[in-house]
Amino acid sequence: MATFRQRALNEASTHTTDRYFVEDKPVSSYFAQNVFDMDKMRRYMSPIAFEAIGHAIKYGKKIERTAANEIATSMKNWAIEMGATHYTHLFQPLTGTTAEKHEAFISVKDGKPFEKFSGSALVQQEPDASSFPNGGLRNTFEARGYSAWDPTSPVFILDGTLCIPSVFVSYTGEALDMKVPNLRSMQALNQAATAVANLFDKTVKSVSVNIGLEQEYFLVDESLYNARPDLKLCQRTVIGHTSAKDQQLSDHYFGAIPSRVEAFMKDFETEAYKLGIELETRHNEVAPNQFETVPVFSSATKAIDQNMLLMIVMQKVAEKHHLKVIFHEKPFDGINGSGKHCNWSMQTNTNVNLLSPGKTPNKNLQFLSFYAAVVKGVYDHNLLLMASVCTLNNSYRLGGGEAPPSVISIFSGSTLMKIFDSIINMEDLQDEEARAESIKIVNSIPEIFPDNTDRNRTSPFAFTGNRFEWRALGASMNAAATTFILNSIVAESLNKFKAEVDALEEKGEPRQKAILATIRKFLSESRNVMFEGNGYSKEWHEEARRRGLEAIENVPDAYSVYIRKDSVDMFTSLGVLSYEEALARTEVLNETYVKKLQIEARVIGDICLNHVIPAAVSYRNELLKGIQSSKDVYGDEYKQLCKYDLDTCTKVCKFINALSADVETLVEARKKANKVQDMAQRAKLYSTEVKDMMDKIRYSADHLEMLIDDEVWPLPKYRELLFF
Ligand code: ADP
Ligand code: MG
Repeated sequence: MATFRQRALNEASTHTTDRYFVEDKPVSSYFAQNVFDMDKMRRYMSPIAFEAIGHAIKYGKKIERTAANEIATSMKNWAIEMGATHYTHLFQPLTGTTAEKHEAFISVKDGKPFEKFSGSALVQQEPDASSFPNGGLRNTFEARGYSAWDPTSPVFILDGTLCIPSVFVSYTGEALDMKVPNLRSMQALNQAATAVANLFDKTVKSVSVNIGLEQEYFLVDESLYNARPDLKLCQRTVIGHTSAKDQQLSDHYFGAIPSRVEAFMKDFETEAYKLGIELETRHNEVAPNQFETVPVFSSATKAIDQNMLLMIVMQKVAEKHHLKVIFHEKPFDGINGSGKHCNWSMQTNTNVNLLSPGKTPNKNLQFLSFYAAVVKGVYDHNLLLMASVCTLNNSYRLGGGEAPPSVISIFSGSTLMKIFDSIINMEDLQDEEARAESIKIVNSIPEIFPDNTDRNRTSPFAFTGNRFEWRALGASMNAAATTFILNSIVAESLNKFKAEVDALEEKGEPRQKAILATIRKFLSESRNVMFEGNGYSKEWHEEARRRGLEAIENVPDAYSVYIRKDSVDMFTSLGVLSYEEALARTEVLNETYVKKLQIEARVIGDICLNHVIPAAVSYRNELLKGIQSSKDVYGDEYKQLCKYDLDTCTKVCKFINALSADVETLVEARKKANKVQDMAQRAKLYSTEVKDMMDKIRYSADHLEMLIDDEVWPLPKYRELLFF
């Protein structure tokens, strides 16, 4: 009988690229056709309603109920024209994913059917979503939770449902989601950054955050995926021997995109375009079957909402191609994992990028002020920023020499570092920084002009010309989980910056001098977080420790930094999180960590006992049968003749016994940990005892994979999962 794996391989071989549809019209003709964007709002709304929503988006003004009713009616009219039958408040609970509960438009009164959607239904819903993690902010007996429309993110239609981007709060108004703290942090940053920008330009009215999220992912054939319980339940392989060839030759990286993958890409890109997601780049990533898609940056709320939506769309479209998209940070051992680089900058309402150095950064006090404030914020809260990207998934990837290290440093490039060091050392600023010379190749190729800064791929937080690239985000994360921290630490730092300048000015310092002195102070105080070398090297880790930068040794330990005094002071003073909300977040983070690891531990136990060991036992029995026959035929000579068989039998038996014993120990370790009531303590035990045991189990299982007849091995192997 064929194994599960063989059947899956047969099925996978029938999956071809012929069944897909791509629009042949120019993208511009259908771009954002499924979004109720400004253009459509203007057409469908009364001028008063249109103005109300415009003010809400631009200045964060409240929308009154009468306007809300009008807005709802126009949304409904548009949605029905587009064939929608339902609407949903799409929110982002603390699970890190999205949640939706669909409500039908249809209503019947006096036997007459009609479509109904009121302003109150638009503005708020009560989805009774009492099962989402809340870290103790809701008791199930008083479990009201409300989703409320976020007018700053446009509504859209997905699969016949009008989706309304929403926040999710408790009965008493506490944030139960990822969006609320992010919106609050943007409000805080807006205030702080506007005040600092006003030191240079009185006309600046507001500052917003722009982000561009680079999304990495793996693709695996659906049949092979379904034959791997670990991929299905954990999105990661808990066992699996590395493939003889994987990424050593870097031949996949930026290679020609396989046609099956290209078909999938074109298909999901088309759907994304219809949803107004402006994707600009696609390419093969480093690991086999790993890819990347990148949209053009936009305002932080929109970029994050669209990233969440893009992940949904990719999953849905993949089904049509018999593919599974894997966003897990480390689905396969031994090869690169997936991240979500967050390109982050601040922009004024007058369209000035506050992180743009211009041609003469040494003279650009505004740029230097904002840069220094970011550096100081990152330095002051380096562990918190790191903790905000630390999930179980991401912990498998960070610090492994392929992804950002588990300690923060900032790369600025030599041009800027020279300026910063001159400022710190009170040297005269060089008047004009020499631009790097043009590069000549051969006559037929036009000269090329290098950027002012080179790149540093090993830095978790790198300046890339006019923005910072925060590289430690995990591919599956809701980016808001870390952008709200980044926005907050910069907001706090800018507030301090402004206070410092004000104080100096009050003492009679002229403004320019006061600003320069403050830049100097900020840069000197946080010089230790700036590092231009190899962030992957061991030396740096030792050096970082000497510099007082905190590394994440253990994920649950890192979570406690959310409720450390300096963090709570920052959150509360900015109005981003209350102490209770911060505490709830650590609870949820620890709980999620435990639950995910618990699932992985169960899955590895199941795979070993029900898949690996049975296969190993039957292979051993086959060998034993042969050995017995040899003995019958050759007598005592069999020992020499069957040396390989005998040795293999012994090895297989050894690994089988080790596996079964280790699985038992793993169960005990879980039981012990589960008895611990304190969630942080429990997570700690999981992160040590449970995790260590899983590594041990994997070692035996992967050795068995190498020993056992390929014909009987039950699970698709890495070489099959990773290459189409
Ligand atoms: P790279 O590989 O060089 O990092 P990518 O093209 O993969 O570049 O991604 C760059 C991302 O940065 C894109 O989403 C891009 O729109 C975004 N980006 C560019 N300028 C800014 C900016 N000023 N602020 C925020 N994001 C930006
Ligand atoms: Mg990048």
